Amino acid sequence: MKQNFAVIGLGRFGASICRSLVAAHQDVLAIDISEERVNALADVATQAIVANAQDEDTLRSLEIGKFDHVIVAIGKNIQANILVTLIVKELGVPDITAKAENNTHARVLARIGADQVVHPERDMGERVAHHLLSPNILNY
Ligand code: ATP
Repeated sequence: MKQNFAVIGLGRFGASICRSLVAAHQDVLAIDISEERVNALADVATQAIVANAQDEDTLRSLEIGKFDHVIVAIGKNIQANILVTLIVKELGVPDITAKAENNTHARVLARIGADQVVHPERDMGERVAHHLLSPNILNY
């Protein structure tokens, strides 16, 4: 079934999620504060918009609350990441995935209601180590 996704932050992580979801025939709204990053995804995403996601009015006008899933892929700016996750939660998004920079950040994200908290470098490191130790187990 087709669902609609919004990806906020189009660095390597967010852009990769965006491309993978589109390849799986999902509707994806891509948002970044950087025009350059948005242009790079303009031909991929269903819709690509330059916006500061910390601005609650902007997220309201994009009707973010009606999306099935929102991915907060802002990384280094932890404050922005937390604020955006909080706003998206308060606007009623039923499933939120947020990227954490460290363990404390991950705990904050879980507390404010992120449904999935990911730490891409750490998670991938764990998967690679697991794979190296269990070469006969297939990873999905
Ligand atoms: P990655 O590790 O995924 O490659 P990065 O190192 O390019 O990311 P990050 O700091 O993780 O940079 O930010 C990811 C994206 O989030 C950037 O493209 C940045 O422009 C965007 N971003 C940062 N703040 C906001 C904001 N307030 N609203 C929308 N996008 C934002």
